[in-house]
Amino acid sequence: MGIVVQKYGGSSLADAAAVKRVARRIVESKRAGHDVVVAVSAMGDSTDELLDLANDVSPLPPARELDMLLTAGERISMALVAMAISDLGFTARSFTGSQAGVITDSVHGKAKIIDVTPGRISSALDDGHVVIVAGFQGVSQDTKEITTLGRGGTDTTAVALAAALHADHCEIYTDVDGVFTADPRIVPTAHKLDRVSYEEMLELAACGAKILHLRCVEYARRYDIPIHVRSSFSQLEGTWVVPESAVDADSPEGEPMEQAIIAGVAHDRSEAKITVVGVPDKVGEAARIFEALADAEINLDMIVQNVSAAATSLTDISFTLPRADGQTAMKALAALSDEVGFASLLYDDKIGKISLIGAGMRSHPGVSAKFFSSIAAAGVNIQMISTSEIRISVIVDEGLVDDAVAAAHSAFDLDADEVEAVVYGGTGR
Ligand code: ASP
Ligand code: MG
Repeated sequence: MGIVVQKYGGSSLADAAAVKRVARRIVESKRAGHDVVVAVSAMGDSTDELLDLANDVSPLPPARELDMLLTAGERISMALVAMAISDLGFTARSFTGSQAGVITDSVHGKAKIIDVTPGRISSALDDGHVVIVAGFQGVSQDTKEITTLGRGGTDTTAVALAAALHADHCEIYTDVDGVFTADPRIVPTAHKLDRVSYEEMLELAACGAKILHLRCVEYARRYDIPIHVRSSFSQLEGTWVVPESAVDADSPEGEPMEQAIIAGVAHDRSEAKITVVGVPDKVGEAARIFEALADAEINLDMIVQNVSAAATSLTDISFTLPRADGQTAMKALAALSDEVGFASLLYDDKIGKISLIGAGMRSHPGVSAKFFSSIAAAGVNIQMISTSEIRISVIVDEGLVDDAVAAAHSAFDLDADEVEAVVYGGTGR
């Protein structure tokens, strides 16, 4: 039997009893004859608590020290899980990301994995140990400093380990039974997807579905590692994230499966909107604005430029960005005011983004019309629209996000007949 890579999230490791429960689950796989490698997140909401603590100590903690602090959360989990496994009569070895060979670039707080050299993991497996790896962290190739992979990064650790160890797939254990057609906390009738393609999952993750880390899906697609997202609290089969060809494949009973047009509705309340009002409509102005934002290392999401009014030759440019970067962006733009000569800047962080995602929309007309009318019927005004081949996103008032998500979900017949979604744990923080 081969190597199994599993990931357990913070909500599955909330307290001592949970750690013991996870250890029993790990040991089941070991008993079944697998070599088991486990990536663990920090217990419960402890990463948020460490962040709060850092902010209480310092308004702007140095990035290096913040990574030193935050990586401690995963180290606590790894050691406790290893102890609980040894109480069950098996031996486990815990490793920090650095010890496990997770090599990253040197960007603190959002480092990218550039290589995994799992020598110590392989020898520990050869010696019969269960291997527990602290997730969300690595070591920089250049600076040799400890780095973190960004919030939710343990998913990426797990998939990277699965790829490096040539595992057949990666199991991601969480506090819900899989990937749902909408956040069950908002749409209780959301239903679980049996399979979803890497492409759809990438869009879902990028649009605010917190179930999987975006980088982890990118990694899984690049190395073709199927991901099985499932609950650590139940024995149910979860959702398989697989290549599109495998989503369309026949069911195990040989019945052809008709792919649903829509995979799901995601939402995101973490963005803000900035409008640059009255930009002179001439060559190079947009470039100047967006260069300033790029220099400030701000990632933008949607961008809309209006047609300029013929009379004034002025146009408005609006874009969305992470709320956390809002003030930095406003400062960078204000500094451009003389050079570009725009009229004013507007900032709005009371917005939410709702995205409809599905590979089937490539070949089905009328999807946007239905999406927009469902949102209109819910009495919600659309402020911005953007699309990709398999996604339509709209920006709406933050307070109306739940209504719009529920309306779109129903309009595309995604509601389950009975409530399927159980949220077993976690505070949703
Ligand atoms: N503990 C980290 C976080 O909360 C990493 C993770 O959970 O994957 O973001
Ligand atoms: Mg977490």
